[in-house]
Amino acid sequence: MKRVVIKVGSHVLSDDGSINQNRIDNLCKFLSELSDKFEVILVSSGAISAGQAKFNLPRTSVVNKQILSSLGQPYLMEIYSKTLSKYNKLAAQILLTAGDFDSRKITNHAKNVINGLLENKILPIINENDATGISEIVYGDNDRLSSAVAHYFDADLLVILSDIDGYYDSDPRENKNAKIRPLVTSLSDEELNKTSYTGSKHGTGGITTKLLAADFLMKKGKDMFLASGFDLSDARAFLLDNNQIGGTIFKGKQ
Ligand code: ADP
Repeated sequence: MKRVVIKVGSHVLSDDGSINQNRIDNLCKFLSELSDKFEVILVSSGAISAGQAKFNLPRTSVVNKQILSSLGQPYLMEIYSKTLSKYNKLAAQILLTAGDFDSRKITNHAKNVINGLLENKILPIINENDATGISEIVYGDNDRLSSAVAHYFDADLLVILSDIDGYYDSDPRENKNAKIRPLVTSLSDEELNKTSYTGSKHGTGGITTKLLAADFLMKKGKDMFLASGFDLSDARAFLLDNNQIGGTIFKGKQ
């Protein structure tokens, strides 16, 4: 069975600091459909928004974001567990930091757990451990963590579900005539080094962290698919019907 990592960004999961249950419902339904065909690992942001929905602390400092994240993470898992139970699916939580992938021993421990969860048809839900590793808070919305997850845990594909439905030849928020690029086989240094604009005030990554994730995987010979997390029809067609009707595929070197 092929293994896929699905990464969902905080914009998809939340609106103005509160969790959007409707989108979580759609996502969980999709994850349950996928799990008939693939081994599925979810990388989910959204802990800070879930925390803010419980307790009104401003996101003005890194430590406040860490506090909100540690408050919100169990609440986010509760929402996932409840929603997935409609599909008879169990969810497990794994908190990692990018540094965990620097140690082969730690990576292997985590991989053994992931393999065991998947054998038992339990959905692993991974997030960055924000109390000890702040790269999500500082750099970007788990995009790069999800590429490490896909590579080190032997996935065949990373799918990033974003607030944008693909990679365009210029920022579609600034250029109405921007055109989607359905297929990307390499990324230039210029594209990878751009300081990117992020979709909303709660945004962290922007497009550049997604391109860095794609570049990392393409160089390892793996593919990444970028599609909308608001409307899952492109991701559904791509994964379940082998049909690319939208989104961008970043094709790894063969
Ligand atoms: P998410 O929260 O889903 O992880 P972000 O909002 O951080 O996503 O990043 C996606 C945003 O990047 C888009 O909404 C868009 O405004 C911006 N962007 C900038 N350049 C591009 C581009 N060339 N193609 C697509 N999106 C772009």
